[in-house]
Amino acid sequence: MSVQVVAAKMAEVELKDVPTGKDLPADSPLTPTSEGKNIARNDPHEAGSSAAASPTAESSAKAGEGSLGLLNPNPAKMPQASAMKRSDPQQNGGEAFVNRDGTVAEAPRMKKIQFADQKQEFNKRPSKIGRRSLSRSISQSSTDSYSSAASYTDSSDDETSPRDKQQKNSKGNGDFCIKNIKQADFGRREIEIAEQEMPALMALRKRAQGEKPLAGAKVVGCTHITAQTAVLMETLSALGAQCRWAACNIYSTQNEVAAALAEGGFSVFAWKGESEDDFWWCIDRCVNVEGWQPNMILDDGGDLTHWIYKKYPNMFKKIKGIVEESVTGVHRLYQLSKAGKLCVPAMNVNDSVTKQKFDNLYCCRESILDGLKRTTDVMFGGKQVVVCGYGEVGKGCCAALKAMGSIVYVTEIDPICALQACMDGFRLVKLNEVIRQVDIVITCTGNKNVVVRENLDRMKNGCIVCNMGHSNTEIDVASLRTPELTWERVRSQVDHVIWPDGKRIVLLAEGRLLNLSCSTVPTFVLSITATTQALALIELYNAPEGRYKQDVYLLPKKMGR
Ligand code: NAD
Repeated sequence: MSVQVVAAKMAEVELKDVPTGKDLPADSPLTPTSEGKNIARNDPHEAGSSAAASPTAESSAKAGEGSLGLLNPNPAKMPQASAMKRSDPQQNGGEAFVNRDGTVAEAPRMKKIQFADQKQEFNKRPSKIGRRSLSRSISQSSTDSYSSAASYTDSSDDETSPRDKQQKNSKGNGDFCIKNIKQADFGRREIEIAEQEMPALMALRKRAQGEKPLAGAKVVGCTHITAQTAVLMETLSALGAQCRWAACNIYSTQNEVAAALAEGGFSVFAWKGESEDDFWWCIDRCVNVEGWQPNMILDDGGDLTHWIYKKYPNMFKKIKGIVEESVTGVHRLYQLSKAGKLCVPAMNVNDSVTKQKFDNLYCCRESILDGLKRTTDVMFGGKQVVVCGYGEVGKGCCAALKAMGSIVYVTEIDPICALQACMDGFRLVKLNEVIRQVDIVITCTGNKNVVVRENLDRMKNGCIVCNMGHSNTEIDVASLRTPELTWERVRSQVDHVIWPDGKRIVLLAEGRLLNLSCSTVPTFVLSITATTQALALIELYNAPEGRYKQDVYLLPKKMGR
């Protein structure tokens, strides 16, 4: 059976498991009693031994992982999504844990959520130069996620801001703001290509469009606007939802895809290279509209959610739930929950099994090579590589590099993951032992200061250094910004850092996530995550009163499968 067929079948199974408000009484969710044993990431076989074995996961377990909230047999304990591990999204790359009571143990240092000036007047826009400089101070989450989704049409000759243009689609509808509606045909072809690699989502669309489980849903979304997102939006629409969408990242919009969506009747407000002012303006245009009020939020990074909290808190009276994809956004939700300010249920898609087990492992297995190749054109065969961390991401990176003929060393601090590395045929080492000889250093630990200045000083000439973990503090890049070292930008996202004796290392993406900064990620993986998002929306939208409280939940594992 091909992988496409398997994925399509998965979606069929998932859909059968999706309850609707109509057919389930309030006390018979997919949740408590009957399914208590199918607890997300409570089963070591399902959860994967690396996560189960890592010290952080152990801590999670201690903090309550053993009785994960959503499917907890005890309804009294139901509301909490339980303790779970996640990376510090913005600052220190360390791990944080959410206890059953919603408190965060070892709370990570977070950057404060930044909002555009409350008194901002969107019509008074800065000059083009001003817009550029503003974009540097944009909300962290809008720039820290991947920004490389290629826009294949070259619209650089058109300098007019989309906000200054009056555009209409072929049906005369002008409720959108994008770069150029004339690119719609090209965008449509992009979407069709993506559909081929998104079998789960397409199967969900095919199967559920008769039932229309999202009839009446008004979804406001803020995600990367790419061909893959377009397939998701068109699926939500086929399932009955109305959608308005903004971009969660100022660089990642595929203009032609946005055009195709606008031509198809979607209210899309996004273009590649938005300024910070544009970014918030687009989000505002999605929610601040006469005669339309969202009742569901689909967010990636939390900016949309927080904009509504800040500017239109009354909207939450009608909102039935939030679905959040990213580490950053989930962290913000837990902060709200901890502060007692979360006023609707939220689904944490980031920590769903389908994301962890596919995105982290397989996405990285494929995209590590892509990221390295696009930036350095390096040949992998025969190269000595050290991978720091043998969790899901590390396993993916090691497998890919080994398959290409690299000699792969692993560093690990967790004994079980270390043993797994040995069992998989990798040489387990201490970083210091191999740092002088390796050609490539890759960090993927979710920890900070894994590669420090001392290590960087000892690397050999030409060593490539990069990070696949969420935070840009895994490599102590700040320690390289000293007067005796010279930085040379040699390509986009590629810097040579040169020592006084002429030695240079090749630093990629300034220590930010390599694959998401320098390559694209496989559509198939995005399909799995997008299907999870769609199922989460269906679940929250149809959940009978009382099934979910004002808290952050994991998708029931049966649906996540
Ligand atoms: P994980 O917890 O499964 O694995 C991390 C491993 O690193 C653990 O085994 C841990 O013991 C080890 N580790 C921690 N500190 C270490 C150190 N100083 N030296 C050596 N090993 C150390 O996590 P994961 O799912 O593999 O994710 C790792 C990071 O990658 C996270 O920050 C995550 O957010 C990020 N991530 C990136 C992508 C991507 O596309 N690049 C995708 C998913 C997750």
